Amino acid sequence: MKLIMLGAPGSGKGTQTSRLKSIFNIPAISTGDIFRNEIKESTELGKKIKKYLDSGQLVPDKIVIEVIRERINQPDCKNGFILDGFPRTLEQARALDEIVKIDACINLSVPKEIIVKRLSARRVCKNCGAVYNLLVLKPKVDEICDKCGGPLYQRDDDKESVIEERFRVYEKQTEPLLEYYKKRIPVITVTCNSVDAPPELITEQIVAGLKKLNLVS
Ligand code: AMP
Repeated sequence: MKLIMLGAPGSGKGTQTSRLKSIFNIPAISTGDIFRNEIKESTELGKKIKKYLDSGQLVPDKIVIEVIRERINQPDCKNGFILDGFPRTLEQARALDEIVKIDACINLSVPKEIIVKRLSARRVCKNCGAVYNLLVLKPKVDEICDKCGGPLYQRDDDKESVIEERFRVYEKQTEPLLEYYKKRIPVITVTCNSVDAPPELITEQIVAGLKKLNLVS
């Protein structure tokens, strides 16, 4: 099962991808996580891309496509994977078509007002990358990761000034992908209209959509 998760920044792609990863036991590939890790480790790639992440701009297609090509060719992706945050441009989508055949696309549709509230409330574990939300997915102990005990922090690009720019970039560059995929593969759209919708309800709707397409039993 090879899936793409589409949706605006803060629509819940990361949360849903990691839930589906556990349910179906397939790798979740987040280009944002890969890039943040490269920056944390101060690799050559990390140094090159930091300015894009800091300002909410997209990393150039050529770099992203190479990173994904290499990751998808790893043996653990043979039986399937979920892409979270890739593709984000038409050029990336076309490049992906040449690398592998995708079975379906999941589209998380969330109004902008809800997204801004959610992103401001997002916290991430510095150690293991687990994602929390102070509105709907609170850690048991304030500012501490439930899973590994690591400290939680707010991503620099989740600050309000950068959120606006990321949203603008999303509408211009990534939203058109929905039409691209609707013409090519099945698209499962799940809509979330409230700030505190429990993530498990969204997961249920995605799984029901995958069942309908006979991608899972
Ligand atoms: P995310 O964690 O998916 O919100 O990604 C965080 C940041 O990483 C984005 O704002 C971009 O700067 C960069 N990024 C992640 N995925 C991509 C992609 N597919 N294409 C270009 N830039 C990306």
